[in-house]
Parts: sequence; C-alpha cells; structure tokens
Amino acid sequence: NTNEPWRHFNASRVYMADLESALHYSLRVEVSAYPVIRGKDLNSLKKYICVLAKYFPGRPVVMNSLRYIDSWLQNQYGNEVSYDAFRAALDNTAQAPDTALPEGVRWVGCQGSQPHFRGYPCGVWTLFHVLTVQAINSRASDALEVLTAMREYVRTFFGCRECAQHFESMVRENLFDVSTSSSAVIWLWSRHNRVNNRLAGALSEDPYFPKIQWPSPEMCPLCHTVKLNGDHKWDLDQVLPFLTSYFSNSSILTDFLD
Ligand code: FAD
Repeated sequence: NTNEPWRHFNASRVYMADLESALHYSLRVEVSAYPVIRGKDLNSLKKYICVLAKYFPGRPVVMNSLRYIDSWLQNQYGNEVSYDAFRAALDNTAQAPDTALPEGVRWVGCQGSQPHFRGYPCGVWTLFHVLTVQAINSRASDALEVLTAMREYVRTFFGCRECAQHFESMVRENLFDVSTSSSAVIWLWSRHNRVNNRLAGALSEDPYFPKIQWPSPEMCPLCHTVKLNGDHKWDLDQVLPFLTSYFSNSSILTDFLD
C-alpha cells in the first residue's frame, strides 16, 4: 500500500512484525497458489510448519496457532490436502482460545522505498536466519532440519521461480557439507551474501537498501580481517557469535505489533 506511512526503524535489528508478516504471506498467499497440495509438496509443507512450530520464537498466541496447525497437518494421512481445508484449519486457530495468527503484512525492517521493493523476500531470508539460530539454541539433533525445510519451501512455494532455481543450485553444490547447527547458520549467511553479490546493482535492488557483503564493517568490525596479500577475509570465529546474537530471540524488537 503506497499510502502507508513510513515506519522509522533501526536497520541493525530484527523485527517480529517482519517475521509475522512473512508467516502470514507464506501461509495465506504463497501456499494458496495450490488449490490442492499433494505428495512431495504436502511433505514440504508439513516440514515447513513443523520447523515453525518448533523454532519460531513467537508470541505465545502465535506459537499456539503454529502448534495447532502442525498437529492438524501431521494428522492428515492422505496423499493430499485442499488449500481450503488447510485455510479452514488456519482460520480455526482464531476460534480456539489463546491463538492468533495475525492477518496481513506490516513490513518494518523489510519496508521498501517503493511497494515493489523488499517486503516478502526480505522476510523469508530473515525468517530462516532466525530459525537456523533458534535451532542451535534448542540443540536440534538434525543439523539440516531447518535448511531442508527452507529448501523444500522455496523449491515448491516461493513465488519467485528464478530465485528458487538459484537457491536450489546453491543447495545442490554443497548443502550436505553442513554437519552441525552452527555450520547451518554460517552456510545460510554465506549463501545470502553470494546472492547479495550477484544482485548488487540489479534493477531489483532498492536504492535505499543497497546490497552489501553483510554485516558491514560498521555493524561488526571484528568480522572483517585481511589476508597477507591484502584481500578481504571473514573471521568466522567472530561472524558466528555475531549472527547468533543478531538473530537471537532476545534481540527481536516487538514494535509495530497490534
Ligand atoms: P535481503 O537480501 O532480502 O536481506 C534481508 C535482510 O537480511 C537485510 O536487510 C539485512 O538486514 C539482512 N542480511 C543481508 N545479508 C545477509 C546475510 N548474508 N546474512 C544474514 N542476514 C543478511 N532476487 C533476485 O532478483 N534473484 C534471485 O535469484 C534471488 N534469489 C533469492 C533466493 C532466496 C532464497 C530468497 C529468500 C530471495 C531471493 N531473491 C532473489 C530476493 C533477494 O535476495 C532479496 O530478498 C530482495 O532483493 C530484497 O532485498 P533486501 O534489500 O530486502 O535484502
């Protein structure tokens, strides 16, 4: 909506409003492109919801809804589920006590200077960075659980098909080298920087939010070092704690929520 007033935000923080907006958009807009979700696609949706129910660092009412949808979906034993049935389950959560999955989007840290910039794709990255970090904190036993859910969500449902193809080719290159929850956090960060590098200067770039190799030296001075030959080098011993703190539950701001 072009008439929405600009929300002033701190560009070096994560906002729950973006995470909830991404949830809304993925479940009520992107998945709705499938009138019937079947087979492999249904499994991908189940994995996505399962990871959300486990690791989304949400408000209690939102977590109750995610757990409700997760158990509803895990109990669908057939090979297919209609979007209408899934949507009815989503909407049902509004009737159950202490549940709510906020409707609509309210981008804050993911606002674009024009309506066609940023928003949902920014929300997807932010959501999965947060989930990979939460998986470390929860001592997840399967290091690939969150990234596999992301891979399948993006491959099946992400509306930007070109993005999905690029992401799938990065996954095929070396996702299976990831063997710990910490390396999953680093893997996603470094792939995101690769995408930033490819897209810097492209038409899709919001001129107010230039694509950089992130985090900038201002955000994390110790993350940046130089090799003997003068080339830039990341200090991964600094990057990992930076990411786990930046995307941690306790750093997420709750401004602009109803
Ligand atoms: P985004 O890149 O969306 O980043 C969101 C926020 O995350 C940033 O504001 C910053 O705070 C933080 N951030 C930035 N870099 C990192 C990092 N390395 N690690 C952790 N946090 C970081 N668009 C295309 O045009 N072509 C593509 O092939 C393409 N592939 C995509 C694949 C995926 C899986 C996704 C989710 C999106 C893809 N996009 C692609 C969209 C594109 O990457 C951006 O999301 C979009 O252009 C909006 O950019 P943005 O400025 O909001 O920043």
